[in-house]
Amino acid sequence: MPEAMGRRILVLATGGTIAGCQAAHGGYLSAQIAGQALLAQTGLGDGSLHIDVEDIAHVGSQDMSQEIWHRLALRIEAAVAAGGVDGIVVSHGTDTMEETAFFLSRVLQLPFHVVLTGAMRPADAADADGPVNLRQAVLLAAQPAAGAGQVLVAFGGEIHAAQWVKKIAASSLRAFASPDAAPLGVFLGDEVYWTPGMTAPVARRYGLPASAEQWPKVGILYAYAGMDSAQVKACLALGWDGWVLAGLGNGNAPHACLAALADAAAQGTLIVRSSRCLTGWVTAAGEVDDQAMGFVSAGRYDALQARILLMLALSGTRGRHAVQAHFSAV
Ligand code: ASP
Repeated sequence: MPEAMGRRILVLATGGTIAGCQAAHGGYLSAQIAGQALLAQTGLGDGSLHIDVEDIAHVGSQDMSQEIWHRLALRIEAAVAAGGVDGIVVSHGTDTMEETAFFLSRVLQLPFHVVLTGAMRPADAADADGPVNLRQAVLLAAQPAAGAGQVLVAFGGEIHAAQWVKKIAASSLRAFASPDAAPLGVFLGDEVYWTPGMTAPVARRYGLPASAEQWPKVGILYAYAGMDSAQVKACLALGWDGWVLAGLGNGNAPHACLAALADAAAQGTLIVRSSRCLTGWVTAAGEVDDQAMGFVSAGRYDALQARILLMLALSGTRGRHAVQAHFSAV
């Protein structure tokens, strides 16, 4: 990729299976290998790119936390402010990669791309996918951004926008997809082929909450046939700031559960209805009367995104109508 020559890339390693090693129990342990050793497996050490590596965390992404998100976002902001970097790669576990990508896309103003990647196989597996994923992520980050930079996921030979990407497979090497859209592009070897007409949407940005401990508390309730309102009430009794319903179809739930959620909404808890479906929108004009029940509809945001958006919205906004505006915007 000739346009990448001489560009300066910062790799921020956080752990995950990409940094994993096989273990005596027959499985593997994630987050065992430092970022520099991962980079050494990519074949990108010929000096045509200037690549710096920092280890930001050593976790499987099931342990990704608001504190690490905060640290990661501050490190990226500092790199943007200092200059001297043309692109950033974040190596990350796959389990929560889409959440980190969405969060970063909402709090960062970027002059270049931030590209997340990871792996489904540990680094010492015969079919390790980490080296090629990391190589392609670095090459993508080295591409000049046309306009504002984006938060992207490069995985399994595809490029996804933070706004659309989801982990859709628990074991396949092509673990990510953009089910409501399409990949922004694909790799053929080291070359990027952008999908004609596909561009990542420009999203509304939020200030980074002051410290991870001060973020509003928001959880997710996953709906299912026969869901018991006692479970819903037990969660609501925690007194958190908001709940996202990963609802049935168009953000639905059994009547007793909706009634419990409406009671909580009347007392000031923000309730956002999203869908447990893989694609589609949750609209206010469905079977549930949001106006009467005091709910917010998540629009095109899935439950994981809605939880993050609600946390960010609640950092500066109160009230159902003000929060609904955050979900109605792009
Ligand atoms: N549990 C691992 C993680 O998210 C899985 C992976 O990376 O594929 O860190």
